[in-house]
Amino acid sequence: MAARPLIVAIDGPAGAGKSTVSKILARRLNFALVDTGAIYRCVALAARDQKIPFDDDDRLGALLDTLIISFKVEGENNHVFLGARDVSDPIRSPEISLAASQVSSRPVVRAGLLELQRRLALAAKTGAILEGRDIGTVVFPDADLKFFLHADPTIRARRRYEELFQKGNEKTLAAVLKEQTHRDKEDTEREAAPLKAADDAVLIDSSSMPLSEVVSQLEQTVRAALAKHA
Ligand code: C5P
Repeated sequence: MAARPLIVAIDGPAGAGKSTVSKILARRLNFALVDTGAIYRCVALAARDQKIPFDDDDRLGALLDTLIISFKVEGENNHVFLGARDVSDPIRSPEISLAASQVSSRPVVRAGLLELQRRLALAAKTGAILEGRDIGTVVFPDADLKFFLHADPTIRARRRYEELFQKGNEKTLAAVLKEQTHRDKEDTEREAAPLKAADDAVLIDSSSMPLSEVVSQLEQTVRAALAKHA
């Protein structure tokens, strides 16, 4: 019996396919899924609701102490709860995407969320998939497997645009690309845990690869690692 679950880090920018790939992979492998972006989004939503400026470190720090963030898998969906409230939809709005990027640049917020991310992963029975920006570099620098999923910015924006369109959002592709470029810049240039591939991460460019192929590739690697890990 291994001492801890197999930890799989999947990092990368918005729209690279992390969420889709992680969700399918977690289901197929029966692994826990820790969507760390959803955690930052919850903080952003709570800060917005309580009118806390996104750069007010004292109040953001105090806010973290009051938040209870949890996940619940129901069929195909991974629901996110803030206390008893299901916030799965509100945290995905374009407004909260930008707000999440802002609060996540504050070291007080990043430090405050480290333990929660580690605890959720380590509570898994066999393995956990963590998707985010700094899993392989900061949250689990000793992860068993690290992947960095990226893709051409225009292709990423188109994926996001189609996802939003299906939900009834009427943003143009150009607006989605502009917002994404802004978020990429903030995530990559911030001082605290910027978005970057860990030196030992496997880089995967999903620009011209169907996500189903990305999943197959990752699944093979994870199953091989799992066989050795047991
Ligand atoms: O992945 P998602 O788009 O849901 O993440 C929302 C925002 O949360 C990102 O733009 C990023 O600023 C932040 N984030 C982060 N570190 C993570 C996950 C997300 O800074 N591990």
